[in-house]
Amino acid sequence: MTQLNLGGIGMTSQRTRDRLISRLREQGVTDQAVLDVMARTPRHIFLDEALAHRAYEDSALPIGYQQTLSQPYIVARMTELLLSTGPRKRVLEVGTGSGYQTAVLAQLVDRVYSVERILPLQSKARERMRMLGLSNVHLKHADGGMGWEERGPYDGILVTAAPETIPQALIDQLADGGMLVIPVGNSRHQQLRLLKKQGESLEELSIEAVMFVPLVSGRVG
Ligand code: SAH
Repeated sequence: MTQLNLGGIGMTSQRTRDRLISRLREQGVTDQAVLDVMARTPRHIFLDEALAHRAYEDSALPIGYQQTLSQPYIVARMTELLLSTGPRKRVLEVGTGSGYQTAVLAQLVDRVYSVERILPLQSKARERMRMLGLSNVHLKHADGGMGWEERGPYDGILVTAAPETIPQALIDQLADGGMLVIPVGNSRHQQLRLLKKQGESLEELSIEAVMFVPLVSGRVG
């Protein structure tokens, strides 16, 4: 398992983070490995300084460019769904954003490939990966609706922005037995979906109502 390098990162009190973990448990998150990783990942370094004091609240927070760092409950839930049928080696994330979800994944799987369409967000995320010593993360500035074909197939794909319908490219880039966790819908109604590819067939489950920023095509910056 990839370990974080926390040297030089001022951690807020362990108590604050432990409270967040208890809340996640109360909300039904049960995967202990996911909870352990979130208990030691410093969420405050993924925010601008003015917002860092709110890092351990269970809420989504702005990261600029009209984007948000996902709510911890959602990060935990999506991660445990992705891992629910066994460990994943190669995972594609669409929507790097702050890189917080990326950093959580990187401590639980062998390799994370993450795609972001807004270049300045990607640059900041890259710096944070470097700071944490997460060398198993590969970032790309691209439209993630097309996936990242050269590095596939993936045994897990996690999407952190909502398309109205699931992009076929993502399904195509799933390995046999691969899991896709993705919010689907518009600005009023979205459902978190879990898909499992088995040979030629796809098993699909609706998990719960969620609210993500939209998946937008094209690149910026
Ligand atoms: N996991 C991130 C979530 C950020 S919000 C975090 O917790 O910080 C969703 C991100 O998806 C935004 O950064 C947005 O720019 C990005 N995004 C939206 N559409 C995209 C696309 N087609 N390809 C790649 N990234 C996309």
